Amino acid sequence: MILMQTNSEMKLHRIFIKNELPAALEPLTRLANNIWWSWNASAQELFSSIDPDKFVELNYNPVALLETLDPSRAQELAKDKKFLSQLKAVEKSFDAYLAEPLKRKSPKIAYFSMEYGLHISLKLYSGGLGVLAGDYLKEASDSNVNLFGMGLLYRYGYFNQGLSINGDQIHKYPAQKFTQLPVEPVRNEDGSWLKITVPVQGRMVVAKVWKLPIGRINLYLLDTDHEDNQQDDRALTHMLYGGDNEHRLKQEILLGIGGVRAIEAMGLEPEVYHLNEGHAGFLSIERLKNHVQQDGMNFNEAVEAVRASSLYTTHTPVPAGHDHFPEHMLRNYLYNYAADLGIDWKEFVALGRLNPDDEGEDFNMSKLSIRLSQRVNGVSKLHGEVSQEMFTSLYPGYTTEEVHIGYVTNSVHYPTWIANDLHELYSTQFGKNWLRDQSNKDVWRKVHKIDDKKLFDVRHTLKVRLLEYVREKLEVDMRRRGERPKAIIDIVNNINDNALVFGFARRFATYKRATLLFKNEERLMELVNDADRPVIFLFAGKAHPADQGGQDLIRHIIHVSKKPEFAGKVIFLEDYNMEMAKLLTQGVDVWLNTPTRPLEASGTSGMKAALNGSVNFSVLDGWWAEGYRPDAGWALPLERTYEEQYLQDELDAETIYAILEDEIIPTFYRRDENGISKDWMGFVKQIIAEVAPTFTMKRMMDDYYDRFYLPLGKSQTAASKSKWKPAREFAAWKQDVSEKWSGIHVVDNNSFDSVNESLTMSSKFNAEVVIDTNGIDAKGLVLEYCAYRRLSEEKLELIRTEPFKLAGQKDGKATFTISFDPQYTGVFEYGFRLRPTHKLMPHAQDLNLIFWV
Ligand SMILES: *Cc1c(COP(=O)(O)O)cnc(C)c1O
Repeated sequence: MILMQTNSEMKLHRIFIKNELPAALEPLTRLANNIWWSWNASAQELFSSIDPDKFVELNYNPVALLETLDPSRAQELAKDKKFLSQLKAVEKSFDAYLAEPLKRKSPKIAYFSMEYGLHISLKLYSGGLGVLAGDYLKEASDSNVNLFGMGLLYRYGYFNQGLSINGDQIHKYPAQKFTQLPVEPVRNEDGSWLKITVPVQGRMVVAKVWKLPIGRINLYLLDTDHEDNQQDDRALTHMLYGGDNEHRLKQEILLGIGGVRAIEAMGLEPEVYHLNEGHAGFLSIERLKNHVQQDGMNFNEAVEAVRASSLYTTHTPVPAGHDHFPEHMLRNYLYNYAADLGIDWKEFVALGRLNPDDEGEDFNMSKLSIRLSQRVNGVSKLHGEVSQEMFTSLYPGYTTEEVHIGYVTNSVHYPTWIANDLHELYSTQFGKNWLRDQSNKDVWRKVHKIDDKKLFDVRHTLKVRLLEYVREKLEVDMRRRGERPKAIIDIVNNINDNALVFGFARRFATYKRATLLFKNEERLMELVNDADRPVIFLFAGKAHPADQGGQDLIRHIIHVSKKPEFAGKVIFLEDYNMEMAKLLTQGVDVWLNTPTRPLEASGTSGMKAALNGSVNFSVLDGWWAEGYRPDAGWALPLERTYEEQYLQDELDAETIYAILEDEIIPTFYRRDENGISKDWMGFVKQIIAEVAPTFTMKRMMDDYYDRFYLPLGKSQTAASKSKWKPAREFAAWKQDVSEKWSGIHVVDNNSFDSVNESLTMSSKFNAEVVIDTNGIDAKGLVLEYCAYRRLSEEKLELIRTEPFKLAGQKDGKATFTISFDPQYTGVFEYGFRLRPTHKLMPHAQDLNLIFWV
């Protein structure tokens, strides 16, 4: 007999039952739901004390800890007087922190970034760019400024790294449970969840808006992974930097266009938009559209309004590093925007092209961002210069040094990256509330008052803690990879707490040259196997899943680390993340960095090390070109000796060995009767006193305000208050001048005859030039004498500019005169350059027109 069964299929429903804490513990929920706890030591201790092992196991995630808290433990804590009083103290300092009024009157800033590194339990970051953005938001809260962040909430984020026994990288994507994150829905007035829509190929993709409180400020995050969307679109917020180029395009549309829509829906009204990297470039397109459709502007007027309130920060020193999309792909997504803006498609694409007429040229996000931002900056002094060079071709007629791109050197958030023990030690000397003045060197110089032995002991404790972590982690990871027990024991037992420990951890991009140290294995072998002077090299870092070259480097290190001579001396740690970065930068003696110059835009991990008194040894690239001092670390020279990279690598490796053998190792082991090296402590104290303060986030935030936000905000406020009158006038002037420019011509040129005459130091250079300005008011023109030194066939260095005087204008003809001492002797080249000028122009290239007389 056949039994007929109905409803035989399992029928399950998902339900989320919220853990309820006893009333006395309720404040814990509040604290857990603001990431502020992650840079407050007492709050961390409080959560850890609930269940130290579980806290670690849960990636230090207090929301998850509370959600899974055992009721009996909760009851116990609710009666624990000591715990309750600690809880009260933390809550009190949290409330006091929140209650402080805004520090200064400043414009409201919207900060856009594709990634945010806030904490290991929030999978919203991949590497340095994200950690920088996360640190920046934390400082915005500490500095109490009017700023909020915009980004995407990823279901899987960036991958977790595993390794096979051969060193092959394994990519793991565990999903994050949003109920276990400190995020909450942003709600409409009627209590419903705020959702915005973004057009994607004719469909409307719906994004939910979340809020992640960071101390006093908010980070808003968009999320498309829900039932309103079809499967493809749900995946938009699955992975960070996953998928193909088209997927990236869709994500950037979501971030830029969706971000602006979310801001509008929330009524936030920022005055300045800060684009952290070109990923956010489409935000300007949406803003153009709003100005055209809501404020009745034409396209050119809208461009001026958007430009006057936008800052673009570029982080990439190579052209290929900037996102770009083929025209046909862009057309599929954004074609309608051209009509919305009142321009044709060709003009639209031109916004992202160097040469508007080159039909084959991709649409480039950094070109777009530069075109629609009045201000642009690189992330270190050197990178600012490299960026000027990279974008010189956008401004024909100007030399590289004249290109308007500035810089703000990156930094790190001290409370996030400092070891607690060290912070306590510093605070004994630095005075009360010193963190408010944390970029002041005079404060940090008090480190010299700390006893060498005391500082050494704290730093040694940090090293021991790091090496203990390394041993435990290796045991677990190597067992999982299937390594032989003997190999594991050999390595773990070989790790010596008294060794000189080097750290190298960062993204494994090939330009970072992680394996440079292994160029000459024999020499390295001798170096690490000196029984009296043991040395350990710790490595960690992820390579992008599509970067085979980067993954090869990891395999290479694993291969070397398995050789018996390197057991416990060369170690690779799986799954680099922010927690590991803390342990490493706090615990190592020397932080090593060996990028191919000038490809390290800034680098920040070395700054984390510097705060903690870990000495840096690095190529003079990025931040270290500014931070380096001979008494506070070691450096490989900035100049390239060889064109060919393999020869440069060889030379750099040799230099590294020599510095290790002759300087670093002997200095570290030059011990006195107390077992410490005075010379070494000299380096430690100097990097703390002279280097660390410059690379604190407060300095970086102040720089952004002084150089960019305040000037941009001021003009923006004035413009919006007067119904965008300045933007309209400025646009009309630009249009007028642009149309007339090609009709400008020289009527008369009575100047020094460089063919038949020569000058001496004591004679004057005189010139009079009459120009038909084709109807342009000559007060809006600058004629300047420019003198150049020729560096090569195509490269000139500008050595002097001298403005002409406008002697008069009549009947459309302007007379310019000049007379000055030549000043420079020798051979150089000169020319007379005419360019437009206007009181609203922030820099000469803002209207990129030049006429050579
Ligand atoms: C600080 C940090 C980085 C950035 O390191 P760089 O030296 O700037 O490359 C990358 N990843 C993590 C997890 C970090 O904490």
